[in-house]
Amino acid sequence: MTAADPRYPLDLVGVGIGPANLSLAALADDQPDLRTAWYEQRPDFRWHPGLLIEGTTLQVPFLADLVTLADPTSVWSFLNYLRHQRRLFPFYFAERFHSSRAEYDDYCRWVSEQLPALHFHHRVDAVRWNAEHAVFDIDLTPLGRPDEGGATGRVHARNLALGIGTAPHVPEQLRPLIDASATAPVIHSAGYLEHRDRLLAAGHVTVIGGGQSGAEVFLDLLRHRPAGAERLHWISRSPAFSPMEYSKLGLEHFTPDYTRYFHALPEQTRDQLLSRQWQLYKAIDADTLAAIHEELYRRSVAGGWPDVVLTPGVGVRTAGRIGAHQLELHLDHQPDGGRSRLLTNAVVLATGYRERPLGSVLAGLDADIRTDAAGRPLVTRDYRLVLDPEITGGIYVQNAERHTHGVGAPDLGLIAHRSATILNALTGEARYPLPERTAFTTFGAGAQPEAQGSQGARGARGAQETGGPEPRAVAPLPPPRHIPV
Ligand SMILES: Cc1cc2nc3c(=O)[nH]c(=O)nc-3n(C[C@H](O)[C@H](O)[C@H](O)COP(=O)(O)OP(=O)(O)OC[C@H]3O[C@@H](n4cnc5c(N)ncnc54)[C@H](O)[C@@H]3O)c2cc1C
Repeated sequence: MTAADPRYPLDLVGVGIGPANLSLAALADDQPDLRTAWYEQRPDFRWHPGLLIEGTTLQVPFLADLVTLADPTSVWSFLNYLRHQRRLFPFYFAERFHSSRAEYDDYCRWVSEQLPALHFHHRVDAVRWNAEHAVFDIDLTPLGRPDEGGATGRVHARNLALGIGTAPHVPEQLRPLIDASATAPVIHSAGYLEHRDRLLAAGHVTVIGGGQSGAEVFLDLLRHRPAGAERLHWISRSPAFSPMEYSKLGLEHFTPDYTRYFHALPEQTRDQLLSRQWQLYKAIDADTLAAIHEELYRRSVAGGWPDVVLTPGVGVRTAGRIGAHQLELHLDHQPDGGRSRLLTNAVVLATGYRERPLGSVLAGLDADIRTDAAGRPLVTRDYRLVLDPEITGGIYVQNAERHTHGVGAPDLGLIAHRSATILNALTGEARYPLPERTAFTTFGAGAQPEAQGSQGARGARGAQETGGPEPRAVAPLPPPRHIPV
């Protein structure tokens, strides 16, 4: 029996292997009755390689690994990775609650190298509904060398999990700067490390963007350019270089309780809330801000000020190239309405990421995906797209549901819980029992009772919404497996 035969479909196919689908694959691996396959276009697992800057850490505790917050007994936990690496004691003495980014990347790769159903170097091109066999037809292109051997063509599955993540975003007015062949480098922060040497060698560098990536790139350049001749500019549209909300109760916005509350709100209210919550996820970690100040202070001790300009409240109106070596930015100073012109030799666009459009994979199902007033897909509470009722298979999304599930959608702290929710919905059983309450805060006017059955996004009703029955009873979990160490 082969997944290439629609009569014997897989239970679940995952598209993309970032942390989100890797978490789902890890939890699914402990469900021996589930037949799954996972496809990733990259040759192997890499987590934001362009920003693995030395010294950067996760912004979530190590407990927010791929599995622990749903199943602390899983062999795919961060602690078991350390055990496997024989580094448990050093980790214990290091007392590090926030692991380095490089270590998280290495941990995920360790998991990815052992899960048998993962296929790297495969791009998923298209998905269609096959009504005759009630399965999804999934078209793949192997990207490796022919001798690497890859599953060509088509596989079939009853359910799909889209974990295609985000792609670097460049605002319209900055696009004229992009020209890979030009001498003066203009790069998105996602590719920072690859171009770092060119940036360090440039006469003057401008970093655009006041989020975490902009701060990290600015700090790294500052630390490595000569004292007194830093020649760095850092500008941000935000009114201040603001710290990320990291209070204990503030963090409860990243709980399943808050997600449930948010999901039940009307679309317009959700949109208004999201636009006001930027400090929960778009601002800068306070330690990074402190490190920048520390470095600037250190450089001023011998007298004189470092040659840097840090200005919030500045937007780029237009931008262009002047000859081979210069870039020109026309700036609007928002608080006072002033305008200025900045000449620079290199630009780092720390302008963020946008969710990859689902249409890049699901174009064949466009007419079957139910959308909200703004044209975005409706997503049930258990992360299932609301589809035409004729389509009986489920399409689950990970990290494409900020508009329906709130600020927690991209957060690593919620991925294990989301994966468990998806597996429970898909199997119709509480394979992973989940806590009923996760926050001390009561969100909304009254308590949020655990609803019986999923609440679909407003305006969506019908069988598709429930994403399968709610968990019925706690099924006994299989005994933990052990990886030889
Ligand atoms: C630098 C950086 C640091 C971050 N740090 C944190 C943090 O500390 N804490 C936190 O909570 N969040 C953090 N985030 C946010 C978020 O958790 C991460 O972006 C995370 O990687 C999201 O995981 P993902 O699996 O959804 O998507 P991605 O990691 O983007 O993975 C998606 C994958 O899908 C693949 N893909 C796309 N289309 C196809 C296709 N058609 N076929 C096959 N493969 C495909 C892509 O190649 C990619 O590998 C950070 C984000 C960035 C950019």
